[in-house]
Amino acid sequence: MLSHGRDQLSIPGPSVMPDVVLQAMQRPSPNIYDGEMIDIANSLYADLQRVACTQADAVIYIGNGHAAWEAALTNTLSRGDKVLALACGRFTVGWADMARALGLEVEILDFGGSQPIDTHQVLSRLEQDDGSIKAVITTQTDTSTSVRADISQLRQTLDTCSHPALLMIDCIASLGCEPYLPDQWGVDVTVAACQKGLMTPAGISFNFVGPKAWQAHQTAGLRSPYWDWEPRVHGPVFHQKFCGTPPTHHLFALRTALDLLLEEGMENVWRRHKALASAVWAATEAWGNKGPLALNVKDPNARSTAVTTILSGDVSAGKLRRWCEENTGLTLGVGLPLGSLWGKKPDNVFRIGHMGHLNATMLMGALGSLDIGLKACGIQHGEGALQQASKVLANELSGSGES
Ligand SMILES: *Cc1c(COP(=O)(O)O)cnc(C)c1O
Repeated sequence: MLSHGRDQLSIPGPSVMPDVVLQAMQRPSPNIYDGEMIDIANSLYADLQRVACTQADAVIYIGNGHAAWEAALTNTLSRGDKVLALACGRFTVGWADMARALGLEVEILDFGGSQPIDTHQVLSRLEQDDGSIKAVITTQTDTSTSVRADISQLRQTLDTCSHPALLMIDCIASLGCEPYLPDQWGVDVTVAACQKGLMTPAGISFNFVGPKAWQAHQTAGLRSPYWDWEPRVHGPVFHQKFCGTPPTHHLFALRTALDLLLEEGMENVWRRHKALASAVWAATEAWGNKGPLALNVKDPNARSTAVTTILSGDVSAGKLRRWCEENTGLTLGVGLPLGSLWGKKPDNVFRIGHMGHLNATMLMGALGSLDIGLKACGIQHGEGALQQASKVLANELSGSGES
């Protein structure tokens, strides 16, 4: 009865696409040998660097985030090299599984599913290392648990013991949602994708390659023709940038999406996401005052501002999600299986994505629908969640001097 209207996708990627991004794709295929397409593609490399706050070379792949994971590994490492994976959820484990399948030796330091990386533990592991660890990999936001890693602290940890490993960061969920300063933090390879904070239809992904990663690339035995950075960055012919036909319409969409981000300004984009995330946290805490709902990440400093993972105790989160989808037009994110990392059933977890093209009205709508869902499904909850969220957003606005 209440579902007829514009649906809202509040899953942690793909995110809501702005209408202007969709409209940018409504056009015939361009010439790929001359003219506008080449200018647009070239402008994207520079603007991807601005969005990712880096001077590192940008590479665009026709592929999802998994493709960019593989590219980062194969361009820097050789069979038998050791990779240390710092896991706070499903996504770093997924990247580590891929590394193992490529013939790399993988060691996982597991910090569970609710806690941030313990850098003391990382330091003591790196101090014992005989130089065999060639790369340290992790995610800035682990999208399954919504745990956020402090990348600057991680860099300090490597520096404290002068460990030469490459630092490779997956910011697929967090780029455009969370401050990310790879040059300042000494990140060697950044892995990103287009369908989350960058508001573009899924299908293209990125590597950003710093100087130390280029050095490793010279001897990387896993390099393969399609994924190789070299022709894509330094090849004299345009065709080499994509190892074939460029993803024309994705590039039109991305051009428009980056314009939106850069017009708003990255600092403002990050502040907006921080405010929206804080509203989700305040609402969830209010619901949790009575009944089973609880934030997965207790420490506010370790919470992602792109996605929030919510525990539902013994209550079926699937039932709540389905009710909201069928009756209010709101789609929430499923809980992901984490196995030994976590010990919680996927059906007792759900996620709210708050990444990308999202304003206060959309977010308050999502929280409102969830509140209706809790009542309709008879799930016990504290009252006043929307009031708390509204207070947080009003405070954030007055704090920033806007009216
Ligand atoms: C979404 C996501 C991925 C996977 O991206 P795909 O495009 O689905 O391959 C990897 N890492 C993180 C942190 C993500 O959020």
